[in-house]
Amino acid sequence: MSSQRDRGRVYLDHNATAPLRPEARDAMLAALDLVGNPSSIHADGRAARDCVETARERVARLVGAMPSEVVFTSGATEANNWVLTSGWDRILISDIEHESVLIPGRRSTAEIITLPVLTSGEVDVGRVADHVLCGPCVGRDLVTLQYANNETGIVQDVAAVAGFCRAHDVAVHTDAVQAAGRLPLQFDALNVDFMSISAHKLGGPKGIGALIIRDGVTIPSAISGGGQERSRRSGTENVAAIAGFGAAAAAALRDVSHISALQQMRDAFEAELKAIKPEAVIIGEDTLRLANTSCLAVPGLRSETLVIKCDLAGFSVSAGAACSSGKASRSHVLMAMGLDDNVVNGAVRISLGWTTSKADLESFLKRWRELSGGATPLGQTVRMETSSHRRAFA
Ligand code: PMP
Repeated sequence: MSSQRDRGRVYLDHNATAPLRPEARDAMLAALDLVGNPSSIHADGRAARDCVETARERVARLVGAMPSEVVFTSGATEANNWVLTSGWDRILISDIEHESVLIPGRRSTAEIITLPVLTSGEVDVGRVADHVLCGPCVGRDLVTLQYANNETGIVQDVAAVAGFCRAHDVAVHTDAVQAAGRLPLQFDALNVDFMSISAHKLGGPKGIGALIIRDGVTIPSAISGGGQERSRRSGTENVAAIAGFGAAAAAALRDVSHISALQQMRDAFEAELKAIKPEAVIIGEDTLRLANTSCLAVPGLRSETLVIKCDLAGFSVSAGAACSSGKASRSHVLMAMGLDDNVVNGAVRISLGWTTSKADLESFLKRWRELSGGATPLGQTVRMETSSHRRAFA
């Protein structure tokens, strides 16, 4: 990923979107030259079909699913909306879900039951049992629980919830957008019925994602028409984007085995941040978190100020979720965790990924004292005490 370095910038916002991987770019360029419609039976059509099905196999492998369980969508927002508006009677949901889960849930006709969030950032999954066992039996229930949070990286115990729900015939959806390619995922063993993923968070193109639907589970089709995606989501397939998604998924799966190196790099980075600014708070520090995410706050410093200072210094980081451009509202996730206002107002997310090098983090640390308030004393050098990995995800 030389282009951003050539521009003198350091990109530390992989949870917003990851830079396109070269494998994905190559696959997309090749697919753009396929002239056929994947539904056509002639050789040109079959070539496009092969391209789509190869990508489907690669995406399935990334999440440990069967290819038949992968339905391509325009992204995770569509996948989440699809599941949440599929005619449930009750939906159990927490306040820390992404807006693409929360908003369709609230707009659906289902009764919404809110699961409490603990100060650790974990959803109180014990409450699922209370509702499933004690609530009125009204028909089709759905529990939706994100795998990992986009702002804090905090990981939820989806397996425990899904195992319990499977035993009680309750459907489970997980938004695994931030987890895919950053944690080993095993859809088949997880007991969930639905999983949403998105290509652009793992180095694929934007505007393509998938809903993984367990074989045998049915929901109303997302879009009706020509019957593509086994009639679950009609519309001629976006072959080039699907090819890019497949290539990115294969590369991301390879990188999952380097996660401990990334975690070492992130942990050393956080230790240095705190050594320089001891009052900095690392949100979710003591909770199971994605290895690539640092959500931190310097009490008294507003996140917008910090993000703008970082931007001017050449570092791309985010305040809160930053999914929609220019958004800098108070984070519903951090508020749901009951964090102090000072922390909520000052939270900044630094998220690493396949392009991140140790040198990127060292250059951030060199500017950190000045960015976070004071001036860096002359002659001070910042070194990260970590292993020899220059690049974790390369
Ligand atoms: N869920 C989570 C947790 C996300 O982080 C995002 C993207 N910010 C989405 C869903 C939406 O994904 P997409 O951009 O593919 O619509």
